[in-house]
Amino acid sequence: MPVVTRIAPSPTGDPHVGTAYVGLFNYALARRHGGRFVLRLEDTDRQRYQAEAEERILAMFDWLGLRPDEGPGIGGEHGPYRQSERLAHYQAAAQRLIDDGHAYRAFETPEELEAMRLEQRRLGHDPGYDGRGRLVAPEEQARRAADGEPHVVRLRTPDAGDTGFTDLLRGEVRIPNAEIRDTVLLKSDGFPTYHLAVVVDDHSMGVTHVMRAEEWVTSTPIHVLLYRALGWALPTFVHLPLLRNPDANKTKISKRKMDTSVESYRQQGILPEALLNFLGTMGWSMPDGREVFSLDELVAAFDPARISLGGPVFDLKRLRSLNARYLRDVLSIEALGERVRPWLLERGITVDDEDYLLDALDVLRPRAETLLELTDQLVPFFESRLRYDVDARRRLAAGQSYLEDLERAFAALEWFDDDDVDELLRGYVQRQAVPMGKVMMPLRVALTGTTQAPGVVDLVVIMGKERTMERIGQALQAISEGLPDDDPERLKAEAEAAAKEAERAKRGRRPLTAAERG
Ligand code: GLU
Repeated sequence: MPVVTRIAPSPTGDPHVGTAYVGLFNYALARRHGGRFVLRLEDTDRQRYQAEAEERILAMFDWLGLRPDEGPGIGGEHGPYRQSERLAHYQAAAQRLIDDGHAYRAFETPEELEAMRLEQRRLGHDPGYDGRGRLVAPEEQARRAADGEPHVVRLRTPDAGDTGFTDLLRGEVRIPNAEIRDTVLLKSDGFPTYHLAVVVDDHSMGVTHVMRAEEWVTSTPIHVLLYRALGWALPTFVHLPLLRNPDANKTKISKRKMDTSVESYRQQGILPEALLNFLGTMGWSMPDGREVFSLDELVAAFDPARISLGGPVFDLKRLRSLNARYLRDVLSIEALGERVRPWLLERGITVDDEDYLLDALDVLRPRAETLLELTDQLVPFFESRLRYDVDARRRLAAGQSYLEDLERAFAALEWFDDDDVDELLRGYVQRQAVPMGKVMMPLRVALTGTTQAPGVVDLVVIMGKERTMERIGQALQAISEGLPDDDPERLKAEAEAAAKEAERAKRGRRPLTAAERG
């Protein structure tokens, strides 16, 4: 029997790292055994449904390279893959359960259910549906339903004993049946609840392994009852440990404490393969202990029985440093060049000189943790007009005479290779008898616009004679103009502050009101 796994996200908001995590392991298991990986959208909660969330989930899996074999927009033999389009399946299953006596139609109004809850609280009983709908005879149920009376369909659950299942990681899990009330399967609007939909779909889509987050462990006995009532074989259940915040209590990962949006990581310049690698270390480890591994390597080694349950911590610092390793060592320089091109394009930069880009990347990549940081550092290499920040302007002003000397010296230098540039700069600094930084910092600023840049020799060699001369010339020009501050952000902030000040001054001059005079 082929292995069939699935990921079943609800399209309700930002695509969550937890969905990527569970998706990754399901993908790996299916691929490992040459099986199928199904994407199903659990969109029956119409209150929380967001149309665009669906596209964003698909885009997330696409970006991560976890391509489902079946799913919405992909097709497959077991579609449709949106639960809202499968209502007939659930209604048919509910009808079968009613016909076989495993379920019944219940007609209590919301007010009646509320009164029941209040009474239970008053008496100190555990809250929950008390099964009163069972008392209505099946013929009467059918008649009232035919008359159009609103109702739900509930599962008839056993009162005594317990229901259990074997979890691949946890072993035997059992829950007393007293804790499982007659659960709603079909709501009054004809939509299924999660429990009915998940069982019907997993069965009809041929799912062999239900691998999902730990929070569903306690729902699984209900599913087991449903499988039994419908006469279907149970799949293998695997409940994955929840991702945790890196706080002292290792609480469940949540939006409030942690960025859980995959899109946000993408925008920060985390590489999809680094995110997958990172998620692949959550509860899982490679048999040989390797920390850096590709998706294919994970697939080749994947065995869900090796997942460990001790709450894996989603530590952003580790994710960033793993990403840095990908930028620095894992990707080839050419591949990295391809990755940053769209980022540069977004800043209005098209790269014509591939070698120049790769040379710049070579010195910059050990200094960046994300594509965003790398782009920030690359931009000055390509901008024809640099903008100097406050600190940079101060450094430039202090370095005018050095820059004038160096402009002349570079003009006379023939070869812009490491040795010659290094010799020129060292010799110059020695003759000036000043600390290295006094000369290097203004030059660094002249070349890049900022004080945070790699070694000056690298910069000069990569930029070459023409660019170096041009940039020093521009810096000297700016110095001679008194280093005007042309940062639009800062100019805007200053204009706003001035407007506020003027407003305050105006108010100060107006005559006092009677109340103010007292
Ligand atoms: N729709 C559920 C979720 O978003 C799926 C749970 C399951 O995999 O059974 O977590």
